[in-house]
Amino acid sequence: MTALNPHIEVRPYSRELTEEIAGTLFAEYDLIVDGTDAWPIRDLINRAAVAAGKPVVSGAISAWEGQVTIYDPARGAPCMSCVFPERPAPGMAATCSETGVIGALPGVIGAMMAGEVIKEIAGAGQGLRGRMLIFDALYAETRLITLKRDPSCQVCGSGTGVAGG
Ligand SMILES: [Zn+2]
Repeated sequence: MTALNPHIEVRPYSRELTEEIAGTLFAEYDLIVDGTDAWPIRDLINRAAVAAGKPVVSGAISAWEGQVTIYDPARGAPCMSCVFPERPAPGMAATCSETGVIGALPGVIGAMMAGEVIKEIAGAGQGLRGRMLIFDALYAETRLITLKRDPSCQVCGSGTGVAGG
């Protein structure tokens, strides 16, 4: 990465993200990028980012489909828990290694996420705050859906909504 761009600083973290370190770690950054593939770690990232007031550029892929959005309740957009309030039932949210994913999809969705990150940092264009881009590689179709905050969200709202885990 530094060979491509000598003006950046790269800080590798060779450890697992945990409840204990997430808050301190996220406080050091303006923007969180979530490309993880399992609900418990996504839930941890969401809760820590909401607590820190930081936006999350989030990408997810499964089989032939990918989705990208920016969760950011501090700026009016929903958090992940507003959109997916309930922990998936066992076996209903398989990881990439369990379901499989078409090889090109991580590149497609990863590049879309990188585009969102650049726009966020540069303040350019219109990001995916409050919107989710869904890419269906099997039919070469994209959709944009509107996402709304849940005022009763367990993570960013009043906490009276459906239990998020
Ligand atoms: Zn929320």
